[in-house]
Amino acid sequence: MARYTGPVCRVCRREGEKLFLKGDRCFSEKCAMEKRGIPPGQHGAGRRRNVSEYGLRLREKQKVRRMYGLMEKQFRRVYDEAARREGVTGEILLQLLERRLDNVVFRMGFAASRPEARQMVNHGKFLVNDRPTDIPSFVVSEGDTIEVKSGSKNKPRLQELQEEAAGRGTPGWLSVDWEQKRGTVLRLPEREEIDVPIEEHLIVEMYSR
Ligand code: SF4
Repeated sequence: MARYTGPVCRVCRREGEKLFLKGDRCFSEKCAMEKRGIPPGQHGAGRRRNVSEYGLRLREKQKVRRMYGLMEKQFRRVYDEAARREGVTGEILLQLLERRLDNVVFRMGFAASRPEARQMVNHGKFLVNDRPTDIPSFVVSEGDTIEVKSGSKNKPRLQELQEEAAGRGTPGWLSVDWEQKRGTVLRLPEREEIDVPIEEHLIVEMYSR
């Protein structure tokens, strides 16, 4: 499937928001948004911002889509699923995105960013409920366990990741046992536990017109 393979910091600058696509670097002063948070392109700094209502909604949708690393069609499928379910569509949308296996691997600290998590899942580095799973879009449920495969448990990279994860902390809906390199989904995430700077109602407004 086609995927954006250009410089990812450019995407943050385009959205005017840190999307945390580069792991460690995102938390350091090397972050392009810290150094040069202007839109990319020759006229980025001087670009006039006269954004229409549609433009605002579109930007919000692009921001969350890029943050979770989904292409348009995949994102639309998740939105349609959220709209079918009972409850507040915007919140269910974020919850479904947050429950993706690649995101959960990132949140547990087994990867420094969602793109790294996706690559690790694709390469078959994890067991879900003791079964090999290499599908980043797999949606986890309460009680599911995610464990690093035995062949990868002693990799030096995991040691580094453990140290980085200690600084970031683990969300309350997940628990991680670093001895076993195994995490558990304690419950589904509440909206206030999903720390993405998104006004999800704008996305719902955009798709419902
Ligand atoms: Fe975005 Fe991370 Fe690059 Fe900063 S370092 S601009 S947060 S991808």
